Amino acid sequence: MKENWHIDYHSPNRGLALKVTKKLYEETSDYQTLEIIENPDLGTVMLLDGVLMLGSEDEFVYHEMLALPSLYAHPNPLKVLIIGGGDCGTMTRVLSCDKVKRVVQVEIDEMVTRVAKIYYPELTKCLADPRAEVIFGDGLKFIQTSSERFDLIMVDSTDPVGPAAGLFRKEFFTDCYKVLADDGILTIQSESPWIPDLMDLIVEVNQGLKDLFTHVHPYLAGIQSYQAGLWMFQMASKIHNPKDASVEQRIRETKKKYRYFNEEIYSASFALPQFVKDKLC
Ligand code: SAM
Repeated sequence: MKENWHIDYHSPNRGLALKVTKKLYEETSDYQTLEIIENPDLGTVMLLDGVLMLGSEDEFVYHEMLALPSLYAHPNPLKVLIIGGGDCGTMTRVLSCDKVKRVVQVEIDEMVTRVAKIYYPELTKCLADPRAEVIFGDGLKFIQTSSERFDLIMVDSTDPVGPAAGLFRKEFFTDCYKVLADDGILTIQSESPWIPDLMDLIVEVNQGLKDLFTHVHPYLAGIQSYQAGLWMFQMASKIHNPKDASVEQRIRETKKKYRYFNEEIYSASFALPQFVKDKLC
């Protein structure tokens, strides 16, 4: 491969090749190495330890699909907790919801947010919103000690290695359950079903959530730059049924316009390919 290409490995056998037209930044923190590169199709791309986190041109798919489903599935989402999400793409979408009164984001690595402020000002300008609070610390520890309760928790983490590994375990979901209000909803990004090891993780996450929550619904989005292009999220709700017709109606009636999300996408995202269903049922 030519020198000016970055390969984002999706498994030991394949990856996504990105032409690097410019390398803009590199820094290593206690947690990870962050690089910012430019690619003609994906725009300004952030890599953490060589793994693509977001591209300015397609970040809207992942961030809308992580943030918006539970914001509509909950009839009154006043307080939202984001774990990870240092680039602030998720927070931007959460704060686009007028009902939200407070968002707390717990990101382990201040470097990610500091650098995002330089390269993704459209995403980080939401930090000036008086409803937003950012805490730099470990989401696992925060959730164990928080006395505040939230209507929604969104887990916007890196892949399940290093400090993010615990964010995919049942012990963490149990702590989230305690921190959620009595009608709260937890949404977690849960990797790609195309990668065998990650499919095993998806099954484990699904079982852990089902042990705790009444309604657990995995859902999918097509994300061209993420592993194998098909990305899974899981929504776990104590009371509100995300598949209730009222949710689609709320989405239909909103005056907000999104770039990926709409009521048809919301409903269709719960449709799972048979090979995924076979593993989860
Ligand atoms: N959607 C992205 C992806 O490609 O997987 C995730 C982006 S966001 C940058 C992920 C963030 O999770 C990173 O900034 C990372 O520092 C943070 N993170 C990882 N483990 C964490 C933990 N235990 N507590 C809080 N934040 C964590």
